[in-house]
Amino acid sequence: MTLSLDSTQLDRYSRHIIMDEVGPEGQKRLLDGRVLVLGAGGLGAPVIQYLAAAGVGTLGIVDDDVVERSNLQRQIVHGDDDIGEPKVESAARYVERLNPDVDVKTHETRLDVDNARELIGASDLVVDCADNFRTRYVVNDAARIEGKPVVHGAIYKFEGQATTLVPDGPCYRCLFPEAPDPGTVPDCAATGVLGVLPGTVGCIQATEAVKLLLEAGEPLAGRLLFYDAMDMSFETVEYARKPDCPACGDDGIETLDGIDYTDGCRIEAD
Ligand SMILES: [Zn+2]
Repeated sequence: MTLSLDSTQLDRYSRHIIMDEVGPEGQKRLLDGRVLVLGAGGLGAPVIQYLAAAGVGTLGIVDDDVVERSNLQRQIVHGDDDIGEPKVESAARYVERLNPDVDVKTHETRLDVDNARELIGASDLVVDCADNFRTRYVVNDAARIEGKPVVHGAIYKFEGQATTLVPDGPCYRCLFPEAPDPGTVPDCAATGVLGVLPGTVGCIQATEAVKLLLEAGEPLAGRLLFYDAMDMSFETVEYARKPDCPACGDDGIETLDGIDYTDGCRIEAD
């Protein structure tokens, strides 16, 4: 628990502190905040940058990849010198340079059934910047069991989406009951992606994470935001919690044991 802000912090965060909606109390909340960022790629990069700049005190970063030259068009925490280095290490160096208040916990691994509950349980909230459906469903289910919010983001070519899953609101499975068949949704390597696109969507995710820590404003809960960079349009579609949702419904899950995440990530009824 951060007891009070020192003079360097009063200076660094002065543009936050001056606002009634944040103030010194809000800044202390950010400094005491523990956010788990899944993925240090296109979406994760701006999330890490803005949360670190905002003074989120503990940033867990989960990624098992190394930096490749083809990442640098959009994954802006990494530089040319970082090629071949683990992304978590490169991202941690970036944060260290930006803000010494932030304690980065690097997890050079993939979030999966065996570590999801522990990693998510130790955080206040999760920002899901993963690029695959399996992770999204594991995160949704583990966060639901642990009672933690998830800020979801996804991108495709020139389009993005974001939503926030809060513990008492609808979950990712209420929105998408099952994952598309493996191989039917191509990844960035196959289709390409506008480099700036994850910047826009990641900044929306970072905004949601900061709001959740501050307990300010209205989260993007029960609302799916669509962004189309070509039209420069934003659209919001509302969705509701399903009483029969296998994850968050009346007979919701209490364990990840027995859920098959290999084929559609479905939860089969007993
Ligand atoms: Zn649900």
